Amino acid sequence: MDQEKVIVVDFGGQYNQLVARRVRECNVYCEIYSYRTDLEKIKAMKPKGIILTGGPNSCYNEDSPTYGKELFELGIPVLGLCYGAQLMMHILGGIVKGAPVREYGKTEVFVNTETALFENVSPKTVCWMSHNDYIERVAEGFEITAHTADCPVAAAENVEKGLYLIQFHPEVLHTDEGTKMIFNFVRKVCGCKGSWRMDSFVEDSIQMIRAKVGGGRALCALSGGVDSSVAAVLLSKAIGNQLTCVFVDHGLLRKDEGDEVEAVFGANGAYELNFIRVNAQERFYRKLEGITEPEEKRKIIGEEFIRVFEEEAKKIGTVDFLVQGTIYPDVVESGLGGESAVIKSHHNVGGLPDCVDFKEIVEPLRNLFKDEVRKAGLELGIPEHLVFRQPFPGPGLGIRIIGDVTAEKVRIVQDADAIYREEIAKAGLDKSIGQYFAALTNLRSVGVMGDERTYDYAVALRAVNTVDFMTAEAVEIPYAVLQKVMGRIINEVNGVNRVVYDLTSKPPGTIEFE
Ligand code: GLN
Repeated sequence: MDQEKVIVVDFGGQYNQLVARRVRECNVYCEIYSYRTDLEKIKAMKPKGIILTGGPNSCYNEDSPTYGKELFELGIPVLGLCYGAQLMMHILGGIVKGAPVREYGKTEVFVNTETALFENVSPKTVCWMSHNDYIERVAEGFEITAHTADCPVAAAENVEKGLYLIQFHPEVLHTDEGTKMIFNFVRKVCGCKGSWRMDSFVEDSIQMIRAKVGGGRALCALSGGVDSSVAAVLLSKAIGNQLTCVFVDHGLLRKDEGDEVEAVFGANGAYELNFIRVNAQERFYRKLEGITEPEEKRKIIGEEFIRVFEEEAKKIGTVDFLVQGTIYPDVVESGLGGESAVIKSHHNVGGLPDCVDFKEIVEPLRNLFKDEVRKAGLELGIPEHLVFRQPFPGPGLGIRIIGDVTAEKVRIVQDADAIYREEIAKAGLDKSIGQYFAALTNLRSVGVMGDERTYDYAVALRAVNTVDFMTAEAVEIPYAVLQKVMGRIINEVNGVNRVVYDLTSKPPGTIEFE
C-alpha cells in the first residue's frame, strides 16, 4: 500500500486527533504515532510530511517528551505546532522560556502572507493560543513569519530545510483560517496530491482487519447505534461469517427499533454474519421494578446488559476477537488517546472485556470522529436511517421515564416519541434539529376526555440544538407543529392527557430527561 501519508507525532496535546482530522479533510491520509516511536519506523512509512503536536510539558525540562535531532534531517517537511514548535526550536538551538505574557484563547496574529504556510491567509487573522512558554529566539536559519502583540514568534520557517513552526493551534476551528494553513502545509509544502477518500479508509480497514483476524472468530455487541453498526458492517465485509453479532433487546429501545435492527443485520438482511437477537425485555423490566433513582436505573441496565451479553458469549465459546465501536471522542475522554491527559473515564471504553473470553480487541473506528464514522457508514452502504440516527443513551428509554419503569410506561413513551419524530420529519425539521425525543414525566393529573374525568400521564417533548453536546439550547419549534404533535399524542396514545414542551437549556438542564 503505497499511499501518500502524513504522520502526526503525538506529544500529548488535547487536540492531536483534530490535527489528523484536518489533514484527512485535505484528502491526505494521516496517522498518529507517539513521540516514543522509533525514527526508523517513521522513515519506513515514507511520510510526505510530519506534524509535531502540542503538549502539556515544557520542552526545556529534563524529562519532557523529546525527539532525536535526526527527525529534522530526513529531508521530509516538518511542521511543529505549539509544544512541537517549541521543541523544534529547543532541539535546533533556539531559546524557549516561560513567557512573560501567556496567551490563552482567541488572539490576533499578524502573518507574513508571502510565505507558503500563510498563502491566501489574511495578514491579520484570529488564532487560538494556549501556551505558557514561548519562543524567545528562533534557531539559526529560521525566519519569523508571524507574531502577536505579546508573542514575538507566533510562526517561523526554514524553507530550505522544509521546517515550519506555529505557536498557535491551526487545527481548532477557533483559528479562523487554520484549515487553510494545514492545507498549505500538506498540499503545497509537502506536495501531497490529495487523492485519499473515505472509501480508501474502508478498503484499508478491511485489509487490516483481514490481516489481523486471519481465520479467527470475532464477537460484536451490536446496539443498533451508528458506531456499533458501522463497526459490525466493516467486520462483516472483512471476515463474513467469522463474525457473530449479539443484539440485546432490553425493551427500552425506541418504537420498532429492535425489528429495524434485525431487518438490517438478521438472517434476511444484507450482510454476511451470524446475528443473535436476545429478547430480554421481561428480564430488564423485572430488574427495574420499583427502582426510581436514575443513577441506580443506569447501573442496573448496564449490569444486566453485560450479564445477558456474557451468557450469549459463553454459548459461543472462546472467541479470538472482541469488536468494539469505540470512536475517537470515547478514546480521548478516557485518556486512552495515546499521550494526552485523562479528562474523564468513559463507560463505552473497556466496558465489556472482562466478562468475555477473548484474546484481543478490534476497534476499527478508533481514529474517527462521529461525522467521519457516518461517512464511512454511507460508503459501506448502510441505510441512511441507521447512519443518521440520533444519539440514543445506552440505558435507552429507561432514563427517559422519570420514576419507576414498567412495560406500560415504555409503551406510552415509545408511541409518543414515534408520533413526535414522525411530525418533526413531516415538518422538514428532522435534519436541522440536533436531538429530539419524548419523555414520560411520571406526573399524573386530572383531565377531561369525552366528558369523562381522566387521571393520566404528562408527556414531555424535548428538542435541543448543540454543537458539541457540552452545552445545548431548546429549539424554537413552530407552535403549529407542537400543537399537531400534542393533538396526536393525546388522541392516539392511551394513558396520556397532557403534553408539555421543555424549554430548559443545558446547563442548567441536561439533554436527557431523567
Ligand atoms: N506546554 C507548552 C506551553 O505551555 C505547550 C502548550 C501546548 O502545546 N498547547 O507553552
